[in-house]
Parts: sequence; C-alpha cells; structure tokens
Amino acid sequence: MTTSERKREDAEIRKDFPLLNPETAYLDNSATTQKPRQVLEAVSHYYESENANPLRGLYQLSLRATDSYEQAREAVRAFIHAKSTEEIIFTRNATESLNLVGYSWTADNLKPDDEILITILEHHSNMLPWQQAAKRTGATLKYLECDKTGNITEEDFRRAITPKTKLVCMTHVSNVIGRTNDLKTFARIAHEYGAVFVADGAQSVPHMPVDVQDLDVDFLAFSGHKMLSPMGIGVLYGKKEILDAMQPFLYGGEMIEYVTREGATYAELPHKFEAGTVNAGGAVGLHAAIQYINSIGFDKIQEREDHLTAYAMEKIKEIPEVHILGSDDPKEHHGILTFTVDGVHPHDIAAMMDEDHVDVRAGHHCAQPLLKFLGTMSTARASFSFYNTEEEADRLVDSMKTLRKRMG
Ligand code: PLP
Repeated sequence: MTTSERKREDAEIRKDFPLLNPETAYLDNSATTQKPRQVLEAVSHYYESENANPLRGLYQLSLRATDSYEQAREAVRAFIHAKSTEEIIFTRNATESLNLVGYSWTADNLKPDDEILITILEHHSNMLPWQQAAKRTGATLKYLECDKTGNITEEDFRRAITPKTKLVCMTHVSNVIGRTNDLKTFARIAHEYGAVFVADGAQSVPHMPVDVQDLDVDFLAFSGHKMLSPMGIGVLYGKKEILDAMQPFLYGGEMIEYVTREGATYAELPHKFEAGTVNAGGAVGLHAAIQYINSIGFDKIQEREDHLTAYAMEKIKEIPEVHILGSDDPKEHHGILTFTVDGVHPHDIAAMMDEDHVDVRAGHHCAQPLLKFLGTMSTARASFSFYNTEEEADRLVDSMKTLRKRMG
C-alpha cells in the first residue's frame, strides 16, 4: 500500500471517531478503545426510542427493548461462533465474567488436592478469582511460566499439567507482551486430562477472529469497551452443558423461574446468570460495534495494526536507551508495545509524553507477578488500534527520543 493510499484509508476510518483528533495521539487502546459514531448513534437511538426495562414488560416498548437486547446476544453468538445464544451471558466486563466462573463453577467442582493451572502472563482479573477459589476450596493454584518473550510451548504446558489439574485458565493475548497463546493446543491437552479450560479473550477478541468451537475452550471472557463498545457491557461464553450444571452467581430479579418463601427455582440459560436489570443500552452498543468491526474486517484490522507495530518497532530499535518487552516479531505484539527507557521512571515517561500529547499507560498494567517475573516493577505501554496512523507512531517515537535528555 502506498503512503497516500494509507493516508486516504486513515482519513476514511478516523472520520467515524469523533474523539480522535490531530492534536493528540491516543495510544492506550489496550486499556479501552474510542467509540465510532455508529456505536454512539445506536446507543442514543436505543435510549431515544426503545428504552424500557427489557425481559419483563408485556407492553410494546418493553418488547422492543427485549428484542434489541436479544438481537445483540445473537450478534455476539455469531461473532465468536458459539453454537447457541444460551451460551452467551452478558456481564459488566471480562473481570465479572471470570469471577462468575471463579465462583459458580469452582463451588461444586473443586476440592482439596485438586489443581488450578494458570500462567504467569495473566492479568489480575484472570488471577485473583482463582486465588480466591483456591482459598475457598482448598485446591492448589499453580503458575506456568513463559520464556522472556512471553512464549509458552506445548512441552512447557505438558510438564505443568497433571492428573490433578481440574481447571486451566489462560489469556489468549497478553496485555503486557502482546504474545498469543496457542489456545487450541492447550485446550485439547487440558481436555485429555479432563480439565475445564477458561480463556481470557479481553485482548484477542477485539483484534482477531475468535471461534470458540474451533478453539474448543469451555469458557471465554471479554469486555465490550476494549472493542469499540460502551463501558459496562461484557461477555461470558460458556458451553451449554457446563453452564447448565452450574449454580447461579448473583441472585435476584429476572434470574428465577419460581420463588416461594423458602427458596426458588432458576430461569433457563442464559438468564439464570443475568440477575437484575440488564445493560440493554450497552448490549445494543456492543451489537453496533460488532457490525462496525465486521464492516472493516479483521483482515484490514490486523494489516493496519501489524503495519503500525512493525513501523514503530523498526524506529524504536534505533533508540539505544529504549527496550521493548517481548518478541522481536511485530506480529507477536497485537499492537502492544510495552517498554522501558534507561534512567527514566515509567510515570515520568507517561507524564512527559502527555506534554507531547501522546497518551500512553504507565505502571504494572494489572500484571504485577508478570512484571516481577520479567525483572521489573513498572513499565510504559503504547497500544495501537486500527484507527491509529503512522504520524501518531512517529510522534510516539519522536517523544521517546527526547525523554532521557529531558530528565536532565
Ligand atoms: N484480561 C486482560 C488480558 C486485560 O487486558 C484486561 C483489561 O485490561 C482484563 C482482563 C480486564 O478487563 P476489564 O477491566 O474490562 O474487566
């Protein structure tokens, strides 16, 4: 693609994002993405013309709200290739999805002496629920380590899994290193051992086609806000037979079939896991985001993100004091460049970059055990989305070049 073709394409995409502007390079997309006009309009349309409490009212407006909410569920089902909408639970975010499994599945399926296997790469949201489950049930939590580039091989995995392993929880793409785990292979091996496999798709579902039947994972968690949707809507995919056998997570309105003074029976899937008034506006936004992503296409999304990552990495290599964590292969970053600068604290990096109107993240990225394992406490992270441009990557690199000097 020529530079002028790329610039035309940049302009075409960026006109959909009202918040993006030439003054500021927004490079914190792994934390949350900006929202296209199509998503904002869909949410406003919902509140302007369809809003009522879904799933309960029998009047036209409530039925319309229910319809929109359930259409969003069908859009999510198709997007991740689940067999049925019963397998799609709406939650607040990936964290809530993982906690749902961490509470409801583990309650009846783990006992002392069982093992939970997770990796050192995990975000705290795919670590703390298992720490708590281990404490509650007496199971042992084991950590599988990666190499310094974030890679975990099949041999590593086979060495760590044992006949006692009942649960394996693993991120698809690391939010720090950007590396992909081969979930299909690891889920197959986990199943050979009779273990259940939980995938954290928070950083993969926005960037690549994810097919839950092909991967054969038992659960997949992700957040809408990292894939162009409003905040407050997330998804838990679970295989129907496993979800059916699980106890509810939250109790209250809408998740019941029949209630007496003594107790209750529960609604069928997916509503058994959606207690209380749902986030229908968020689900409508997620539906619009899926339509938007499909209209751009993952081929284009990946081409643009890989191109920007390679483009920036090539230039960063020339700055001796800057070090990128993870692989040298741009395709193994999914737009995520976590870095350190010799002699400059990551909080100073982020503050100076802010002066240059380049938005990056600094800190532990909710992965303290991983950073400790990699020999650091804190780093800075730039993360690209398909709507970022070469000019923004240049601004990142130009700012990086000045940081050490500015510290005096
Ligand atoms: N898992 C990974 C890999 C993440 O990167 C994040 C957020 O950064 C989460 C889980 C948690 O997402 P949320 O805060 O939307 O629940």
